[in-house]
Amino acid sequence: MPGLRLLELVAPVLGARCVLLVAEDGSCVAVDVGAGVADRVARVVADRGWTPQAVLATHGHVDHTWGAGELSRTWDVPVVLHAADAYRLDDPFGTLGVLGHAAHAADGPLAGALRAAGVDPADYRRPERVETFGTAGGVRSPVTAPATAPDLALATAPDLALAFGGVHLVARHAPGHTQGSTLLLLDALVGQGDRVNDGVGGDRSPTTVPVALTGDVLFAGSVGRTDLPGGDGATMARTLREVVATLDPATLVVPGHGPTSTVAAELATNPYLTPPR
Ligand SMILES: [Zn+2]
Repeated sequence: MPGLRLLELVAPVLGARCVLLVAEDGSCVAVDVGAGVADRVARVVADRGWTPQAVLATHGHVDHTWGAGELSRTWDVPVVLHAADAYRLDDPFGTLGVLGHAAHAADGPLAGALRAAGVDPADYRRPERVETFGTAGGVRSPVTAPATAPDLALATAPDLALAFGGVHLVARHAPGHTQGSTLLLLDALVGQGDRVNDGVGGDRSPTTVPVALTGDVLFAGSVGRTDLPGGDGATMARTLREVVATLDPATLVVPGHGPTSTVAAELATNPYLTPPR
C-alpha cells in the first residue's frame, strides 16, 4: 500500500486520539473524531489544501465519534465504521452503560467530561451519511437505519481493503471491547527519528512502516475494557491471541488513547498479550 502521512490531534474529552491520514495526492481521511476536535481537524485540512474523503471510526464509542457527524456534514463525506457498532451512533450515551447513564444524562461521568471541556452533552447529532463494512461479503454499504445491538456470538469478519481517493488501508475486525471494534492497518511514511511524523515531514527521507490504529483494543502496556455494553472478555481474549498477537512485530501501534508503541514491544511487555507459538 502507498505510504500515508499521519497527523495526530488529541481531543480534549477523554484524550481520544484523532488521526488524519493523508495520501500523496492530497486526499485524506480523519479517524476517530472525538469531542471538541472536529473544528481543529477541519481547519488543518483546509489550511493544507487537502481533500477530505471520509470520517472513519475504530469503533462506535462516543469519545471516538462525537465529532464525526459534525465533520462529515462540514466535509460532505460519509462516516464509515463496522456494521456491528453502527447502532451506537443513534444513542451514544445509552450504549455506554454506567459511563453514559441514560441518554444525555446530566449526571453521567461522560456528560461531566464533555461539560468540563466546554462541550454541551445535548449537542450530539447523529451523522446523516453512514457507511458500514463487515456485513456479509465484506463490502462497504450505505445504511439508512443502523442495526440494533448485535448479539455477542461474533465471527471475526475477513479483512476488508478500503480506499478513499489515494488513502488505502485494511480494516481487520477485532471485537471484544465492542462488537465492531476494528484495527485499521496501513503503511505510513515516518520521518527519520520520528515516532509518527507531523504530516509535513516528507522532506526528511521518510521510510515506510506498517501502522495499526488500534482504537481501544490495544494500548501501550494494556488493552481495552470489556465490561461496557457490547464488550466481551472471551471475545477479547481471542482477538488478542488471533488478531493482535499475529500482527507484524515491526508494526507501529497507534492506540485510541495514550502513547504509541510497537507490536514487538507489546508482545515483550504487555501482560495481556502472549506471543504466538
Ligand atoms: Zn472505546
